[in-house]
Amino acid sequence: MFIDVRTLPDGSRLETDLAIIGGGVAGITLARALADSRAHICIIEAGGLEYDAEVQAFYDGECVGISYPLTGNRLRYFGGSSNHWGGFCRPLEAIDFEVRDWVPHSGWPFAIDELAPYYGPASEVVEIAPPRFGDKTYWARHTGTELPDLPSGRMEQRFVQFSPPTRFGTRYRDELRAAPNVDVLLNANVTLIAARTDGRSVQAVRIATLNGLHHEVHARQFVLATGGLENARMLLLSDDVMPAGLGNRHDLVGRYFMEHPHLSGFGDIVLADLERLPPIYRRRVRVEGRDASAAFTPSERFLRDNALLNAVFMAGEAGTYRDDTTADWPHARQHVDMLRAASHLIGRPHRPADAPLGNWLGLGCACEQAPNPDSRVMLTDERDRLGLRRIRLDWRLTHQDRHSVVTHMRMLAAEIGALGAGRMLVYAEHPDDWPAIVSGGAHHMGTTRMHDDPRQGVVDRNAKVHGVDNLYIAGSSVFPTSGAANPTLTIVALTLRLADHLRTRVT
Ligand SMILES: Cc1cc2nc3c(=O)[nH]c(=O)nc-3n(C[C@H](O)[C@H](O)[C@H](O)COP(=O)(O)OP(=O)(O)OC[C@H]3O[C@@H](n4cnc5c(N)ncnc54)[C@H](O)[C@@H]3O)c2cc1C
Repeated sequence: MFIDVRTLPDGSRLETDLAIIGGGVAGITLARALADSRAHICIIEAGGLEYDAEVQAFYDGECVGISYPLTGNRLRYFGGSSNHWGGFCRPLEAIDFEVRDWVPHSGWPFAIDELAPYYGPASEVVEIAPPRFGDKTYWARHTGTELPDLPSGRMEQRFVQFSPPTRFGTRYRDELRAAPNVDVLLNANVTLIAARTDGRSVQAVRIATLNGLHHEVHARQFVLATGGLENARMLLLSDDVMPAGLGNRHDLVGRYFMEHPHLSGFGDIVLADLERLPPIYRRRVRVEGRDASAAFTPSERFLRDNALLNAVFMAGEAGTYRDDTTADWPHARQHVDMLRAASHLIGRPHRPADAPLGNWLGLGCACEQAPNPDSRVMLTDERDRLGLRRIRLDWRLTHQDRHSVVTHMRMLAAEIGALGAGRMLVYAEHPDDWPAIVSGGAHHMGTTRMHDDPRQGVVDRNAKVHGVDNLYIAGSSVFPTSGAANPTLTIVALTLRLADHLRTRVT
């Protein structure tokens, strides 16, 4: 049942077995996964079924580090940020889970084997074809093309699969509406996670509405699933019993904020003959009813040998040059000169008279950011309409983050050259070029990190907040290390794992 809490009598007290705070990707996935249990489940969602600027304004805040669009990079209504996500899906790699001695604070409390069984079911949730992210033979067979080898061993090919993209709020709305044991509370802003007096468990959550009502939801178990920035904010705001905030005994909540720095405009690939590079490397192709595209990632061996962070590169068709093209976009002259001077080196020694001079592909890159305690979410003294302190984000990158990606750019250029299909031109080799070309990917990670040791993590390996018996966290805020893969598939996989853990605890 969907309930607009603005229509309930003021001061209503609701009881449930499992209260899920936030009806986005993680919240909806968890409720669906447990809908077949005997537990009563309540999703508490701040927004309604549609975008509302007044509600969205609760996401406003202040940036004191790298500039970051706090309001535009997430959505506050049922379905959460899946209402405008891009659908790029790829799992984390095995190395992303390891404690790497060259990456301070790195490593998950478990290896990829623990999460691997959940990536298949997670792929169904986000509606991608069976997960074949590293299976080159499969993509070659289904696209009917030969996919070239990268013999150096420094780079590997991976395959990104695209969700339609699944809009969780619309795709799963009817299913949740029909579930007899699930209630979805709409327009219900959680303002406080109220701990019992010893701070060791949660009693209830307090809700406020924009028409001035206040309610409470009492539950046996609580799961915080308000997104990677807001999860930290909610814990920091919940300071009535624990003055530093809930789960924040060791001053970790909000720290280690990680993004995947996204770079564009740092380089292009110039090709004399587009056909030398199979379509899956330069655009999305349709396979088994779903879109997929190839990506280049550094090999595990290269990362270890050179003590680097992970990264992923993708190319996209950007333009064609003919003999009479008078292109005036940045670097066009350089492309044309290269095609004229070196087409015998980059794939087309004898060009047919009617063939274009060549083509260029734009390049995009997403990199891993090393966990850094000084990159963090805090609270400002400014308050929102409900009187809650707003978020302050201090996103920071280090020399290590910059050095890794610049090294990968150079190496990718060498690999593209070795493929014999074209040449990669790199324009932003110096780390000082970064401010102009780096942005976030709307991936908010690390602010309630997972670690077995309460002095190093906010949640334990089961995503339970250390020191609080019945409070769990779902979402990318628990990622202790981020790899370079888009986070949502992993968020769904982790949430399905959390559902398995909670199944016996909520009834
Ligand atoms: C433009 C854009 C493109 C993206 N593209 C991709 C992509 O291609 N691939 C990828 O993997 N990821 C992508 N992402 C990221 C992806 O959307 C997120 O990883 C994912 O939505 C996070 O899920 P979540 O459940 O943790 O948070 P959300 O989906 O944001 O859900 C949080 C929910 O909590 C609710 N909430 C917040 N505060 C409260 C409160 N106080 N009380 C009650 N409810 C509250 C919100 O209204 C929201 O419904 C993209 C994001 C954006 C913004």
